[in-house]
Amino acid sequence: MAKGLLIVISGPSGVGKGTVISKFINDEDLKLSLSVSMTTRARREGEKEGVNYYYVTEEEFLRARENGELLESAEFVGNYYGTPMFEVNRIRGEGRNVLLEIDVQGCLQVIEKAPDALTIFIVPPNMEELEKRIRGRGTEAEEVVQERLAKASKEMELMHNYKYVICNDDADLAADIIRVIIRRHMEKNNI
Ligand code: 5GP
Repeated sequence: MAKGLLIVISGPSGVGKGTVISKFINDEDLKLSLSVSMTTRARREGEKEGVNYYYVTEEEFLRARENGELLESAEFVGNYYGTPMFEVNRIRGEGRNVLLEIDVQGCLQVIEKAPDALTIFIVPPNMEELEKRIRGRGTEAEEVVQERLAKASKEMELMHNYKYVICNDDADLAADIIRVIIRRHMEKNNI
């Protein structure tokens, strides 16, 4: 059985990654499974161990990272996050395609270890639209909005590292384009 694809999707906060992904994640012909990350942050109400995350202590996380058990990792507001290698290998070993929704720094680590990864970066139609979406999301303080916008600009400077850059002007269209890309890569790899 051919090993499944390793797919990474990134994009700045507010670009609508979640909405786009939700449109195709359950398409049976795409054989997709989302990877469950490891984190040191506290479990939120309603979250389930092994479904949303694998919740570990800082000591356990650092040990796993040192032992090379993580494909990539990142620190985010005082907590560690990482993609366990066993999770990715298990899914791909079943002939299914694994989808990681991670930030640019995490993706650069993945590219280093797995240059054949199918990497997709989602961009907003323009920065004014992104600002509108970030502001429209809620009542975040001006400082937080500016911080998110600054981070978005920084991330967009690194989009040339990705195999594909897709504009999310229309979420249905963006999802259709990603479907075609995944199908073509599945054909090429006999999946
Ligand atoms: P949250 O605490 O809200 O669940 O996630 C915080 C941030 O960590 C989000 O931007 C999320 O995309 C990112 N994140 C979650 N899991 C991973 C991971 O395994 N690797 C990386 N690099 N980022 C992650």
